[in-house]
Amino acid sequence: MRSMSVLYEKAWIHGALDCESNSDPAIEVFRYDRSSYVLRQNKCLSFEAPFIYVLIGEDKVLVLDTGATESAADFPLYTTVETLVAEHAQQGKANERAWLVLHSHSHRDHCAGDPQFEGKPHVTLIEPNGDAVRDFFSPRKWPDEEKYIDLGARKLTIIPTPGHQEEAITVYDSQTKWLLTGDTLYPGYIYVKDWHAYKNSIARLAAFSEAHDVSAMLGGHIEMTGKAGEYYPIGTVYQPDEAGLALKVEHLAALNSKLEELNDSQKIVFDDFVVAPMSLLQKAISGAAKWFFQ
Ligand SMILES: [Zn+2]
Ligand SMILES: [Zn+2]
Repeated sequence: MRSMSVLYEKAWIHGALDCESNSDPAIEVFRYDRSSYVLRQNKCLSFEAPFIYVLIGEDKVLVLDTGATESAADFPLYTTVETLVAEHAQQGKANERAWLVLHSHSHRDHCAGDPQFEGKPHVTLIEPNGDAVRDFFSPRKWPDEEKYIDLGARKLTIIPTPGHQEEAITVYDSQTKWLLTGDTLYPGYIYVKDWHAYKNSIARLAAFSEAHDVSAMLGGHIEMTGKAGEYYPIGTVYQPDEAGLALKVEHLAALNSKLEELNDSQKIVFDDFVVAPMSLLQKAISGAAKWFFQ
């Protein structure tokens, strides 16, 4: 396995001052090991610049999130994944793997690319909505029950983590020991829609991380600058000094302690991320137009 520090230090494509003349690819592909990939969307296509994860097992492939852009011409996510999977094709077994497309949650910047995957015979796509996600688990036990998926010599644990958004999940990969946290925890300004649910989800993740070997926590975005507690404002398309992607289990433990200590929801500023409750107005807008907030 590759040294974990690379994910704390790696510089990603981070937009441009002048996007008209930006020549970075629409999707940066970072190969972590021979079957684990981290993809980042170009900020010049969407300021959200979400991260997407592709994990390849012997039998199946997990695609976690589909990005912020629908157009395959502008944002060729499907063909990018196809290329990565093809590199793993065994002789005579080309592209036989089934793909599972899941979403860290159903905000638009994490599922806009879904149409590129829909209707493909080898793809199972869990729709980004509450019913489909809860059906995928045991609906009556959501959010208390984990689900296990075997990609073939590679086991995943799917942990419900509502709070930032109702359908949020976190994925743990037994191969890389990554905890893929989506917008539940990432180096940025994290809006929390349901504080009580979020507190419980973070407690669940903290307990999980104590019971399992977690090498890094990787989320959906980078919004922090390189300076402690400082973040780029929403809408930024150029982040030359952005922080690294990975967070550590210590961050999770610190957040959990702080949430346990507080009686009420309030903005909490850590050096490497910020957690803040959504205002009532934001909640109203979010309810009316779920895609509006990242
Ligand atoms: Zn997001
Ligand atoms: Zn989100």
